[in-house]
Amino acid sequence: MESSRSQQYRSTRGGSKGFTFEAAVLKGLADDSGLFLPHAIPALPSDWRSAWAHFSFQELAFNVLSLYISPSEIPADDLKDLVHRSYATFRDSEVTPLRHLRKKDNLYLLELFHGPTFAFKDVALQFLGNLFEYFLKRKNQGKSDADRHKITVVGATSGDTGSAAIYGLRNKEDVSVFILHPRGRVSPIQEAQMTTVLDANVHNIAVEGTFDDCQDIVKQLFGDADFNSKYNLGAINSINWARILAQIVYYFHSYFTLLRSLGLPPTSPEAEKIQLRYVVPTGNFGDILAGYYAKSMGLPVSKLIVATNANDILDRFFKSGRYEKKEAPAGHEADGQLPQAADGAAAAPDGAKETLSPAMDILVSSNFERLLWYLAGQAETEGGEEGAQKAGEILAGWMNELKTNGRFAVSDRVLEAGRRDFGSERVSDEQTLETIQAFYAGEPGENPYILDPHTAVGIAAAIRTSSPESYTISLSTAHPAKFSAAVDTALKKFPGYNFDQVLPEEFKGLLEKEKRIEYVQRADINLVKEVIERLA
Ligand SMILES: *Cc1c(COP(=O)(O)O)cnc(C)c1O
Repeated sequence: MESSRSQQYRSTRGGSKGFTFEAAVLKGLADDSGLFLPHAIPALPSDWRSAWAHFSFQELAFNVLSLYISPSEIPADDLKDLVHRSYATFRDSEVTPLRHLRKKDNLYLLELFHGPTFAFKDVALQFLGNLFEYFLKRKNQGKSDADRHKITVVGATSGDTGSAAIYGLRNKEDVSVFILHPRGRVSPIQEAQMTTVLDANVHNIAVEGTFDDCQDIVKQLFGDADFNSKYNLGAINSINWARILAQIVYYFHSYFTLLRSLGLPPTSPEAEKIQLRYVVPTGNFGDILAGYYAKSMGLPVSKLIVATNANDILDRFFKSGRYEKKEAPAGHEADGQLPQAADGAAAAPDGAKETLSPAMDILVSSNFERLLWYLAGQAETEGGEEGAQKAGEILAGWMNELKTNGRFAVSDRVLEAGRRDFGSERVSDEQTLETIQAFYAGEPGENPYILDPHTAVGIAAAIRTSSPESYTISLSTAHPAKFSAAVDTALKKFPGYNFDQVLPEEFKGLLEKEKRIEYVQRADINLVKEVIERLA
């Protein structure tokens, strides 16, 4: 069977194209350091509104993914099975339920935290783990143990990605996973979520050092050609195409859930008038980029709003057209656990500012490169294959400037193209705490709700930009129990508030459970290599 254009992949930097979905997923990054994109964004089937309206999350996932994955690569029945297994671990039957958060401004919350580690990254990483296993099984059919193709996944985490990756890959055949975290610098719950997973293929390495040290070691390991080819290193970081792809699904799911809750038949004139605004707490731009694909495919979205914390490189871009790294002022000792109530007072280990929403503490957004490629193509080229090539060249130029000067600026045309689809807001720590308090206190006629600090950044941005005439869906990226310090700081003044109200059953006793950790006394690549050589 032929693959359609949307089922083949190219690099953002123009160097190469014609990759299969499998190659894009297993390579992660193209050889020219670009990110993988589909040759074309697929259009929706003309009857999608009526045909998809009553699909379950899993049925929607199958239909969306099929547009990007050729059946000659993954036959339909296999893809259905992968989808079902990936979402069987979720605690909510709707997988990503939609909640009416505040009636007066038509504000909805899309809860993405019902997966095994209580963070939105589960939606993508459960699927990615199963994909890795599927591709490896196929390569290894009928092979003896000595000939089997094996993958060693290596990653660094400051907390959230590590546990989601571990839960996605635990117990998978022919995959071993090594996650480096800075010792004592991730929250106790996050540490326990990672280190109490005792499957034989899961290894946590606590490094005496910072998150930046961990990330440097991982980069060096990938750059070490001998080590890399011997252990067949695999990456699970947020630039992997499969992660973006899996996240497109919940934008469609939330649209249909909203129509159902409003009692509107999907092809009624009232339904066809609806344009949604999505607000997304943003770090590496993976979550909101999936919304851009949904909109480009034809989901009726009027705006996608980027919500940042004090690490506001994206907000500054959408206001000025300049993409500029700004290091936090030096001289502050980073501490991964103490919340800083002031707006960005301390520096996180990688030079970003440390905030109450640490999963969004970034200097640059790795997936933004993908959007920039589309904007360059729309604003500076005539389109077609020639346009795609030229967009790759423009993009490569920007990325070079970023690398050498720490910044670049785009033309007004490019900025305008970006502003057609995107808005942006920056939210301080103080506003984050106020938002958590406001929704806990509730308003007359509204139920109290406890927001995690990342979700609160989104809600604060949503309230600034929403209007009663339109529907706003804000994405909830984590369960509040994962970020207890910020939630406690916000809510301790309320009589009757007790953190145990927030704590899900699954977290109770987690801190006392048996753990397995490898300690590395110095941030030294050779010490980490020794651990991998011993355990892979
Ligand atoms: C990763 C993460 C984000 C940021 O998502 P991006 O896709 O990197 O923009 C926001 N909130 C939480 C809780 C996260 O774990």
